[in-house]
Amino acid sequence: MSAYIPALIRQLVSQRAAGVCEYCLIHQNFSMYSHEIDHVVATKHGGQSVEDNLVVACLPCNRHKGSDLTSIDPMAGVITPLFNPRIQVWSDHFEVENAYIVGLTAIGRTTVFLLQMNEFARLQLRQSLIDRGLYPNLL
Ligand SMILES: [Zn+2]
Repeated sequence: MSAYIPALIRQLVSQRAAGVCEYCLIHQNFSMYSHEIDHVVATKHGGQSVEDNLVVACLPCNRHKGSDLTSIDPMAGVITPLFNPRIQVWSDHFEVENAYIVGLTAIGRTTVFLLQMNEFARLQLRQSLIDRGLYPNLL
């Protein structure tokens, strides 16, 4: 979503993430497109353009997430919230296994599924970065 975000807040959010997508942990330096500032709770759901509701997301993560807050847990088949990088810890919900990002919880599984984190081209890129010691870039 392209809601107005003041420049100072944009800068603070970018610095906090240190160039890393807060969903899939890929660094900006290895992404084909510029990372974006994402509203965790989209403005259409009442989310504000404030630091506590903003994250850095790579283009694929951001496009797949869109304004969604939930999806269906592929294991349990029930509506489940997406990972919120502002209030949850990445390693509580995900781990990297042979370049795959694996959801450890319902939230993790649902987020991996909706954001298509293991789409083939993304897996290939991740594997090549792992091979060179350039992934993951933990926050
Ligand atoms: Zn990402």
